[in-house]
Amino acid sequence: MKTLESYLCGRFVAGTGDGETIVNPATEEPLARVSADGLDRAAALRFARERGGPALRALTFAERGALLKAACDAIVAHRNELLDLAVANGGNTRSDAKFDVDGATFTLSAYAELGAALGATKVIADGDSIPLARSPRFAGQHVRVPRQGVAVHVNAFNFPAWGLAEKAACALLAGVPVVTKPASSSALVAHRIVQILVEKQVLPEGALQLLCGGAGDLLEHLGPQDVVAFTGSAATGMKIRRLESVIRHSVRVNVEADSLNAAVLGPDVEPGTDTWDLFVKDVVRDMTQKAGQKCTAIRRVLVPLAQVDRVREELCDRLSGIVVGNPALDNVRMGPVATAQQLADVREGIDALARDGRLVYGVADLKPAGVPEGKGYFVAPVLIELEHGAEGRTVHEREVFGPCSTLVPYAGTAAEAAELVARGQGGLVSSVYSDDTAFVQDAVLGLAPYHGRLFLGSAKIAEHSPGPGTVLPLLVHGGPGRAGGGEELGGPRGLEFYTQRVALEGARPVLDRIAGRS
Ligand code: NAP
Repeated sequence: MKTLESYLCGRFVAGTGDGETIVNPATEEPLARVSADGLDRAAALRFARERGGPALRALTFAERGALLKAACDAIVAHRNELLDLAVANGGNTRSDAKFDVDGATFTLSAYAELGAALGATKVIADGDSIPLARSPRFAGQHVRVPRQGVAVHVNAFNFPAWGLAEKAACALLAGVPVVTKPASSSALVAHRIVQILVEKQVLPEGALQLLCGGAGDLLEHLGPQDVVAFTGSAATGMKIRRLESVIRHSVRVNVEADSLNAAVLGPDVEPGTDTWDLFVKDVVRDMTQKAGQKCTAIRRVLVPLAQVDRVREELCDRLSGIVVGNPALDNVRMGPVATAQQLADVREGIDALARDGRLVYGVADLKPAGVPEGKGYFVAPVLIELEHGAEGRTVHEREVFGPCSTLVPYAGTAAEAAELVARGQGGLVSSVYSDDTAFVQDAVLGLAPYHGRLFLGSAKIAEHSPGPGTVLPLLVHGGPGRAGGGEELGGPRGLEFYTQRVALEGARPVLDRIAGRS
C-alpha cells in the first residue's frame, strides 16, 4: 500500500513504524498509510527559518504574488486528479470536492492579485505619517515587516485543499515560510498538492514543507518569531495554547475552532418569496454539503413561532430528496462523514441534541446507495426541534459536526433572536434573512459582537449569493469565544498575523522612503 511521505528539509521522507491507515470513508477500503514517527521536526523548522524565510523575504510582494499565481496554476492543471482524490479520501461528492479544491485555487489567486496590487515593495505602510512635533519634519509612521520565523499550519480533516491554501497564501505573501500539517485521516489531497508544487518547482526551497502524520513534538520547538495557525477542535486548540514553548516565547497562535452558527428568519419573510427560498436552500445546503462537516454550517435555525410549521414541512420535504451514499455516484447528494470516530461522535451528538427537543426528521434504516452492505461511515440528515422557551443547553453549547441542525422557535423580535444566538458563546458566521431593514439593523447590532462574519440574506441578493457557508478570501474568517478567537483572510488583513507592526519615529523624508512613498 502507498505510504504518504512528508516533505521536509528539501526531500520526501517516510516516517518509521506502522502508522495509521487512511481509508475511503464510503467503502472503508484502505488507501494509504501515514506515519510521521522518527521525523526530525525541529530540523524542518530550522530549514524553514534558515532557507525558506530569507528566500521569501528577498522577494517583493509582487514577486511573492507571482509565486502564488504559479502555485494556483499548477493546482488547476491537476484539478480532476485532486477532485478524484477528495471523493475517495474525503467522502466528498464531486460538488463537495470542488468546494474544497476550487476554494483553494480561488484563495491563492485572490492573494496573488493582492501581491500584484501591493507592488514592488517589501514593507507595508500601516496608515499615514503622523506629525509628532511643531516641525513637520519630525514624524511617526507605522509599518509592517515579515516575521523572521516559520508559520506552522495545523489543519482539520474537512478541507484538506482549502485549509492548506488559505493559510499558506497569507503566510507566503507576507514572506513567511510554512510547515503545513493536514489532518492524518484526509491527508491525501494536501500531500498531492505539495507533490505537484515540488514537481513544478513553484516555490523557493524551504518555503513550504509538509508533515504527514501526527504533530509529535513539532510545536515544542517554536521560537519567538514563529506563529501557529490551527484549525480543529476547541480541545486541541486549548492544548496548543498551553504549550510551554508557546507561553515562554509569546508565540502568536490563531485558533479556528467550533462554532454553533445560526440562521435567523425575520418575521417579515413570507413563504414563497425569494428571501424565504434562499433561507430554506441555505439551511438544506449547509446540513448536507460535505455531510455537514463545515465549520461554517448552520447548526441552529431560528424561526418565528408563526412560521415554524411551514419551515419544518419544507425542510423535511427537501431533506427527504437527498440521496445518501457512495459519493462517487452521480445521483448521490451526500456522502459519509470522514472517519469511524466522526461517525461515533456525530451519532452521540445527535442523541444528546434530541434529548433537548424532539426529532422531526431522520431516517431510521438508512441504506446508502452504491455501498457494500454494512460498510461506510454514513449518517442520514437529522432535524431536531426545540420547544419555544426551552433551555436547549446542548443545542446552544455542543457543535455536532455532521448533517444535523436544530429548529429553534422564537417570538420574532430581534432582541430574542440575539439573546438565543449569543448562547452559542461566539461563532464564525451567522445569518439574518429579512427584507425589513429595521429588523436587520437591530439583529446585526445584537449579533455582531459574537461573530467574525454576518450574512444578510434578502431578496436583493438571493440570485447572487453563495450563502453563509462559503468563506471568501476578501472577508475575514474566524470568530470570538467558542470559535477560537482567531481571524484569518480578509484580504490584506490576513497578512497581519505574519508580520510585525513597528512604529518608526524620525525625519519624514526617511519615513516616506521606508514606507514606499518616495
Ligand atoms: P482535531 O482533532 O482537533 O484535529 C485538528 C488537527 O490538529 C489535525 O491536523 C490533528 O492531527 C491535529 N492535532 C491533534 N492533536 C494535536 C496536538 N496535540 N498538537 C498539535 N496538533 C494536533 O479536530 P478535527 O476533528 O480534525 O476537526 C474537527 C473540528 O474542527 C470541528 O470541531 C470543527 O468545528 C473544527 N473546524 C473549524 C474550522 C474553522 O475554520 N473554525 C474549520 C474546520 C473545522 P491528526 O489528524 O494527525 O490527529
